[in-house]
Amino acid sequence: MAHQKFVVFFLSAMALLLFSLTFQLLLLLRVDSSESSWTTGGDVKKFFESAKTPEVFDWMVRIRRKIHENPELGFEEFETSKLIRSELDLIGVKYRYPVAITGVIGYIGTGEPPFVALRADMDALPIQEAVEWEHKSKVPGKMHACGHDGHVTMLLGAAKLLQEHRHELQGTVVLIFQPAEEGLAGAKKMIEEGALKDVKAIFGIHLSNRIPFGKAATRAGPILAGAGRFEAVITGKGGHAAIPQHTIDPVVAAASIVLSLQQLVSREADPLDSKVVTVSKVHGGNAFNVIPDSVTIGGTLRAFTGLTQLQQRIKEVITKQADVLRCNASVNLAPNGREPYPPTVNDIDLYRQFKNVVRDLLGQEAVVEAAQVMGAEDFSFFAEAIPGHFFLLGMQDENKTYAMPHSPHYRINEDVLPYGAAIHASIAVQYLKEKGSASARGFHDEL
Ligand SMILES: [Zn+2]
Ligand SMILES: [Zn+2]
Repeated sequence: MAHQKFVVFFLSAMALLLFSLTFQLLLLLRVDSSESSWTTGGDVKKFFESAKTPEVFDWMVRIRRKIHENPELGFEEFETSKLIRSELDLIGVKYRYPVAITGVIGYIGTGEPPFVALRADMDALPIQEAVEWEHKSKVPGKMHACGHDGHVTMLLGAAKLLQEHRHELQGTVVLIFQPAEEGLAGAKKMIEEGALKDVKAIFGIHLSNRIPFGKAATRAGPILAGAGRFEAVITGKGGHAAIPQHTIDPVVAAASIVLSLQQLVSREADPLDSKVVTVSKVHGGNAFNVIPDSVTIGGTLRAFTGLTQLQQRIKEVITKQADVLRCNASVNLAPNGREPYPPTVNDIDLYRQFKNVVRDLLGQEAVVEAAQVMGAEDFSFFAEAIPGHFFLLGMQDENKTYAMPHSPHYRINEDVLPYGAAIHASIAVQYLKEKGSASARGFHDEL
């Protein structure tokens, strides 16, 4: 009997132990699955699903069309900025305004570190829209021909998605709506006015007509070139075209300078390190029989490395070549106050993180390797100041063709808006999660 009692006691104890272990294991599994939901594609996929619902998608399309109808040039984006602020008010996102004249910076999350930024540019171009459609630009001579109306919309979309999950964020997402990307370095002004204060990383998107629909094209390291402009006035002494010996001909000097400039890339640059020097304008003279006093030339230079050295060589070639032909030359390396843009360089760690997030969100095949482009972006100022990642979001589909950016025939494929919004939201969440767990690990190590 005593033996039987012991067996019953033993079995009950074992059952209790087993129950307790199973319960603990279940608890552990629960914690585990809720923690990993941001990473395993669970919740990031939910971002994509919400972004595609009519409620979010139709709202985004409405915003995009409204911005498209009212394009504004750099540092004049007052109505665009107002629209952004009123949408942020409706979503319930707090913001700072004005930053860099028309810029807006929204904040979602704990208000505490870590801070991660998402960026959109707001400006349009001085181009007359040639696309005939219901929501064509209402402003003569101005057009969103670079997709920045889509960029603003995707960032507002991300704001909506993130705001719904604000209590789960492990830090703060900073939404940067910047002015004047097209040549006026709005990003630089935003930085000068504190846009990156406490921010540890920044992500940016550009729509692309050359990448297949829904694919994200990126690469580690330099992705877009640095860019500068130059303008030179070559001065000689005008006179009768039939008596050249009494003149100092700036036309011949300018011609010689244009040809000499071609040798900078072909003879001085490493053939494996891409550079461009293009003389794109020449103005001088207006008669058949008069040699003018001066000729003005101008153009652009592009480089991934050595932009400053290339600028210096351009200046030297112009002034010395003018001297050879008895002319004077003055060279301006920032015409109309337009400063050079540095190359856009993707941080390797952010690049890896980004690829993982897009893979979880849209599948392995959604990430493609981007080719380097000699075009430039002022996102480069952000990525120069802190680690940054910039990628091209494809909108080309098989049925339609989309014109190149800065073309009067440019249009965007609105179906891609949910992709951009979901990628923005997911990468911010993932960054904060990894940053949070890394600092928790660091703290643990110190203990
Ligand atoms: Zn552009
Ligand atoms: Zn652009």
